[in-house]
Amino acid sequence: MVIGVPREMKNNENRVGLTPAGTHELVKRGHQVLIETHAGAASGFRNDDYEDAGAEIILTEDEVWGRAEMIIKVKEPEELEYKMARKDQLIFCFFHFASNRKLTHAMMDSGAVCLAYETVETTNKVLPILVPMSEVAGRMAIQQGARYLEKPVMGRGILLGGVPGVTPGKVLIIGAGIVGVQAAKMASGLGAHVTILDTNIQRLRYINDVLPPHVVTMFSSEYNIRQLVANHDLIVGAVLVTGEVSPKVITRDMLKLMRPGTVIVDVSVDQGGCIETCKPTTHENPTYIVDGILHYCVSNMPGAVPYTSTIALTNSTFPYIIELADKGWRKACLDNYELLKGLNIISGEVVYRGVAAAFDLHY
Ligand code: NAD
Repeated sequence: MVIGVPREMKNNENRVGLTPAGTHELVKRGHQVLIETHAGAASGFRNDDYEDAGAEIILTEDEVWGRAEMIIKVKEPEELEYKMARKDQLIFCFFHFASNRKLTHAMMDSGAVCLAYETVETTNKVLPILVPMSEVAGRMAIQQGARYLEKPVMGRGILLGGVPGVTPGKVLIIGAGIVGVQAAKMASGLGAHVTILDTNIQRLRYINDVLPPHVVTMFSSEYNIRQLVANHDLIVGAVLVTGEVSPKVITRDMLKLMRPGTVIVDVSVDQGGCIETCKPTTHENPTYIVDGILHYCVSNMPGAVPYTSTIALTNSTFPYIIELADKGWRKACLDNYELLKGLNIISGEVVYRGVAAAFDLHY
């Protein structure tokens, strides 16, 4: 199979979809790998590394998209890439369709087969490709939140860990999945007081078992959230209902209950955000203020730490890439339930319930 890896176009997206190690394995199995020039540079992989592994370096993205039977990317195609996708081409990357009507229609119109990283799912409901990126984003949420709590960048002026004689900052995390647990780990490690909410009591039980006693668990309800937002310094949105638009757990009127300079990091932004006032931002312009509350809503947080994220991502995508390349998408999806769950659009038809529901499309 001819496999193409374009350079990412999203703002400050420094990850790449395939490493030289992955290239080596694919070439060994008889596949042809096309890498757009410098696609791996920001992740520490040079053109020479890919060439040594057997890839062909391609000067333009048009040629990569034009020749490849399977495109491997990190983030969803940007508008400039919409016209490059073509009928029956397999595209394997993060799509987050349910929060992006334009992308959904563009991919339907292209006739391509869209297999989404974020909905590849095991029989026990784990999202194996989202997990490592959520681990990165969860940890980063606290790093970024701590930074934006500083006064010069309009935060409340709070040091999350406090110091002897001064109470620590308070962190509220909504959603106790992968992002939530990693955020709780980081925040509690800094010495902050942490409250974490979920609607799934099993998750709260798990957190209660594995994290220190200054991480408090609570059931996620509107009533509890209204009480808690008033006295927390950093609020992390980490909610997910797989493949669907995020439920809005913090509504605009709740901002009035918060203290000025409170920081919200809505990690769920890629699925539409779980905070009503959330709109996607970039690493270049990561924050904005609504009613005195600082919002950080970067939809590709791991893109800022590509040395870590590219390896973490490709560790989990690679076994699927091999299966797709060796068998073709039809046989691979029939043989492997996890890949089958990743199918979102096939030749103009939406085949994922949450995406169809988001836009009232035929399913
Ligand atoms: P996950 O499935 O592991 O966890 C989500 C949790 O949300 C689950 O425990 C679920 O029970 C809980 N939940 C659902 N509805 C809830 C509600 N009303 N109140 C409280 N909790 C609720 O998902 P995850 O891997 O932790 O990912 C969370 C979000 O972060 C996803 O939208 C994911 O796409 C996103 N993400 C964003 C970035 C980024 O760069 N911005 C990076 C990675 C992941």
